[in-house]
Amino acid sequence: MGDQAAPAPITVEQHLERILAAVEPLPAAAQPLMDALGLAAAEPVTAPHSLPAFDNSAMDGYAVRLADVVTATLESPVHLPVVGAIGAGAADLRVLPEGTAAKIMTGAPVPEGCDAVVPYEWTDRGAEHVRIDRAPELHQHVRAAGEDVTEGDLVIEAGTVLGPRQLGLLASLGHARVAVRHRPRVVVLSTGSELREPGQPLGHDSIHDGNSYLLAAAARRAGAVAYRVGIVPDQPEAFLAALEEQLVRADVVVTSGGVSMGDYDVVKAALRPLGTVWFGPVAMQPGKPQGFGHVGEDRVPIFTLPGNPVSAYLSFELFVLPALRKMMGLTPWSRPAVSARLTHAITSPPGRRQLLRAHLDPADGTVSPVGGPGSHLVGGLADADALVVVPEDVTALEAGAVVSVLPMDSGLEGGH
Ligand code: AMP
Ligand code: MG
Repeated sequence: MGDQAAPAPITVEQHLERILAAVEPLPAAAQPLMDALGLAAAEPVTAPHSLPAFDNSAMDGYAVRLADVVTATLESPVHLPVVGAIGAGAADLRVLPEGTAAKIMTGAPVPEGCDAVVPYEWTDRGAEHVRIDRAPELHQHVRAAGEDVTEGDLVIEAGTVLGPRQLGLLASLGHARVAVRHRPRVVVLSTGSELREPGQPLGHDSIHDGNSYLLAAAARRAGAVAYRVGIVPDQPEAFLAALEEQLVRADVVVTSGGVSMGDYDVVKAALRPLGTVWFGPVAMQPGKPQGFGHVGEDRVPIFTLPGNPVSAYLSFELFVLPALRKMMGLTPWSRPAVSARLTHAITSPPGRRQLLRAHLDPADGTVSPVGGPGSHLVGGLADADALVVVPEDVTALEAGAVVSVLPMDSGLEGGH
């Protein structure tokens, strides 16, 4: 019985479905506003008070009673004594006596009795007395309490992604915290005895560890908290020891390397005996060898991504990103695709979904492949900004064909 017989590949969708079924949104808790940037509100938020909270001036000018100035014209101005100045945050004058005016600054509360503000431009800007050359209309330049938000209004629905504008509103309403789901803590491990830290010298047979930076940065950009553990040699005991040590701080583990058919496939060798991690081919290129399951007492989800950097990154995009988004309570889980016309003819292997690195030109709706199909081509990966998705049953496309494209830097970030 050939235990070397390769299992039949599962589809990208099957793999993703299995992953999404295995992860749940993390618990929510009230967090300081700045920590919630890019996350979804876990609960609806109502307004504890109205906005504006009080009637206030929309201009720098004079608070008046309309009845006192209604006859004012350039030819026949009205003169009023100025009884005080009302500044934003410095509003001692609460009531405007009849027959008087008070200087008032933008945002300052209008005193009782005042029903219009005359802008400086219609006056002589007098300090003791003011000359008013034009009559305002009722409530002119007065911002009414509650005209924007009314106390008790639902201002943020559960699930709303909290960007700068939403956080600004929450702060304006006096909320110092907002309930959001915890950011997943993602532990990133690179495996490979050939790997060296950037900054370290290389031997004739070693390379720098690009993947742990690639994947930790991707996790952080997605909104997660990334712990880049760095390099683990190709020894199952060393890998299991590193994993064990890291599990206490992990909501997700992402490894790279050691899952293909080589003689030193450390991740497979270490995790297979546990029986809790599935390994197998997924019908995609690059990124065919995949693994997903859980490890440790707390059943921490683990993604064992292939070692080639392009494969690792595309696997992150297709499988890890959606899982992290689900854990953060964010939808959609995957990047939205756009359509574009190919600038060049391409070929693709049968039975596998190909993801070609490409440049997307949104202005003219075209997409041009960059670099080659090799999964080691990190230069091409960094140069590209999109992926052309070639379906499993398509083996060739002419220039001009309309294809589905995933922009790799589209606004799907839970950034923080
Ligand atoms: P593996 O699946 O471990 O055989 O790795 C496949 C290829 O990816 C090999 O050429 C590795 O040297 C390379 N590779 C694995 N891990 C990394 C990494 N962290 N950074 C850069 N290249 C890697
Ligand atoms: Mg390796």
